[in-house]
Amino acid sequence: MKISNVSIYQVDLPLHEGSYNWSGGKSVQVFDSTVVRVETDEGLVGHGEVCPLGPVYLPAYAEGARAGLAVLAPQLVGDDPRQLMRLQRKMNQALKGHPYVKSAIDIACWDIVGQAAGLPVCMLLGGRYGDSFPLYRAISQQSPAEMASFVGKYRDEGYRKFQLKVGGDPDTDIARIRCAAAELQEGDVLIADANTGWLMHEAMRVADAVRDVNVYIEQPCLSYEECLSIRRHTNRPFVLDESIDGMSVLLRANRDQAMDVVNIKISKFGGLTPARLARDLCVELGIAMTIEDSWGGDITTAAISHLAHSTPPEYLFTSTDFNSYVTVSIADGAPQRDGGKLAASTDPGLGVTPKLENLTAWAP
Ligand code: MG
Repeated sequence: MKISNVSIYQVDLPLHEGSYNWSGGKSVQVFDSTVVRVETDEGLVGHGEVCPLGPVYLPAYAEGARAGLAVLAPQLVGDDPRQLMRLQRKMNQALKGHPYVKSAIDIACWDIVGQAAGLPVCMLLGGRYGDSFPLYRAISQQSPAEMASFVGKYRDEGYRKFQLKVGGDPDTDIARIRCAAAELQEGDVLIADANTGWLMHEAMRVADAVRDVNVYIEQPCLSYEECLSIRRHTNRPFVLDESIDGMSVLLRANRDQAMDVVNIKISKFGGLTPARLARDLCVELGIAMTIEDSWGGDITTAAISHLAHSTPPEYLFTSTDFNSYVTVSIADGAPQRDGGKLAASTDPGLGVTPKLENLTAWAP
């Protein structure tokens, strides 16, 4: 089987809630997502998606995804899409870095491999654990009272894990965490994600002020070293996200005992192939994971669902259903949230059929 054509599409994904706000005044109103369609000479077609969280979250941006894909795509024509590790090596030799660019192609090739095998991708990634897996709901940055009010609203929708977007003024953030924590019921989980927004002295003030609160602290500061400093001074469970963008730093963080939970975003690692490697290593090391991506629509949500559903439940801290945050559907067959939980498709491949009428063909 050979790749015969790679097409690139763009789609805007507006948010039901109008905007998504996090540390440092960062905000997105409409997500700019990119879909890749990989066709083969045997008729199988696979799809992948990459959607950075705007241009200022990770070193990734929507226009960069498409520019990088325009470089990579012609070089992959003629290659066997089922040889996923060989494709990773080829992409890494053709384009240094830019893992998010490669992610969409890798996901599309997993879709093809699953279809060729007649199996859902989760089965190829290790198996399917249980009927479904739990999701968290991000609570966009607002006033402490507004954010706290969303805990009950989202619980009514079935979520039991709530991620507060903090990383602003430390006193306001302490109020955000305490107000939201006051709304928790038994079994709820609260995460305060600063998204690199605090300096160390600010993070220390917040961490100290919430020592008695049942809350996780996620990515308080920009650098790994700053986060490690806070980790060593707090008694709260600790999550690393933005700092962990590859295997080398993941191994270092394990050696340093720098985290209790790590956030594995598919595009941050370069696709399902490297994210699966990180996932399996974390299972061996005893590190629980949030498994998700930076953002996306139906195809990203499907890819997330297969990696999350094939993760042993005790290691899956939480996951995300991005397709419920946005107003545009880009594929049929994508998993839909049911009571705060999601399940991967049982159809072969990713189990999605793109709505090409909702996508705009893109060319450099
Ligand atoms: Mg995070």
